[in-house]
Amino acid sequence: MVEYLVVGAGPAGLQMGRFLHQAGRDYVIVEAEPGPGSFFRRFPRHRVLATDDNSLFDGVPFARYSKRAFPGADDLVRYLEDFARPLNVRYNTRVTRLDQFDARHVILATGKKPYVPGIPGVEHAETYASASTDPTEYAGKRVLIIGRGHSAFETADHIATTARITHTVGRSVQRIVKRGNEFVATIDGTGQLRYDKVVVCTGFRRDTSLDVPHAHVLAGDSIKAIRHAARALHRTLEAEHHGVPWPHRKVRNRPDSLAATVAVRAREIPDGLADVVVPQGGHALLYDEMPTTERNGFVVTSTQICHYRKNELIAVERRLHRKPLERFFSQQLAVPCIS
Ligand SMILES: Cc1cc2nc3c(=O)[nH]c(=O)nc-3n(C[C@H](O)[C@H](O)[C@H](O)COP(=O)(O)OP(=O)(O)OC[C@H]3O[C@@H](n4cnc5c(N)ncnc54)[C@H](O)[C@@H]3O)c2cc1C
Repeated sequence: MVEYLVVGAGPAGLQMGRFLHQAGRDYVIVEAEPGPGSFFRRFPRHRVLATDDNSLFDGVPFARYSKRAFPGADDLVRYLEDFARPLNVRYNTRVTRLDQFDARHVILATGKKPYVPGIPGVEHAETYASASTDPTEYAGKRVLIIGRGHSAFETADHIATTARITHTVGRSVQRIVKRGNEFVATIDGTGQLRYDKVVVCTGFRRDTSLDVPHAHVLAGDSIKAIRHAARALHRTLEAEHHGVPWPHRKVRNRPDSLAATVAVRAREIPDGLADVVVPQGGHALLYDEMPTTERNGFVVTSTQICHYRKNELIAVERRLHRKPLERFFSQQLAVPCIS
């Protein structure tokens, strides 16, 4: 019996594990592979990360592992290995059914798997995960890359150095037919074109195979989004199961002070989360980065501030600069706000 079961030792599972570890909770992280960060051992295929903002909360800054604007993926693997070291991780343990474990709370941090669309003939194509990363294999060839996202352009960038033709297309491929060593692709609005290689780079989708209503899903499109989502989930669990109040700080309950604070915070709040400001007499309590289901007082996201009274929306301001915010607070503080 364990209190918290975290499935997956990627950035999300490790971040959650770190919070549970620090809070002294009974937890285990289970990971299918022999080490942490298995996604980044395989991807990106060409081993260059898309961003240098890869630090997790409560660890050393990722900048100690790489100073590059586009760091190497292996630097991130080393970072995740060090981050995982003090945590309770059980490797080589693939979860196929959640009832394998006796856990009070489950957090699914199983990441995403390559997604292949149902285009007729797609099974003949190579994929982002399987295609060779050796540019000489594409020398003089006509290559079709299906996909218009990050992995498609990463692949195109490498292939284009040697290929004769590199086409990238989005959703307009209707069919692929393999004839001998050649592929004939039917493309909406263009007709039929012949290629020597077809590579499907159509992104990643979350694996939902373990989803059950009582499990918490922790996922995101970047480490930045994940670390904030993990902190919000951990704070929610601490409040619900251990009576730990959501952390808050006090701000002077004056339009100028509130406007100054909100103008700064609005630039920092990640998508899907909101700061909540609850005026109380001479000061206001600021609860940072709550799930946006919160409907109490002033709810600040990166795009707007909403004033709620008993769940009813009474005012919105989208200009998140000091002067308009000061005017907004001056008007709204005249309206009683619930606490
Ligand atoms: C090409 C590419 C490049 C990217 N570059 C960056 C970047 O530079 N910076 C960035 O912030 N983000 C980047 N991302 C996004 C990146 O995928 C996420 O930030 C990050 O990997 C998500 O972390 P995660 O922990 O949710 O999932 P993952 O990193 O995928 O971790 C999930 C873990 O769960 C394990 N697992 C899965 N199923 C089971 C199971 N049933 N039982 C046990 N264990 C299981 C897996 O083995 C894996 O270790 C990139 C994405 C792509 C596609």
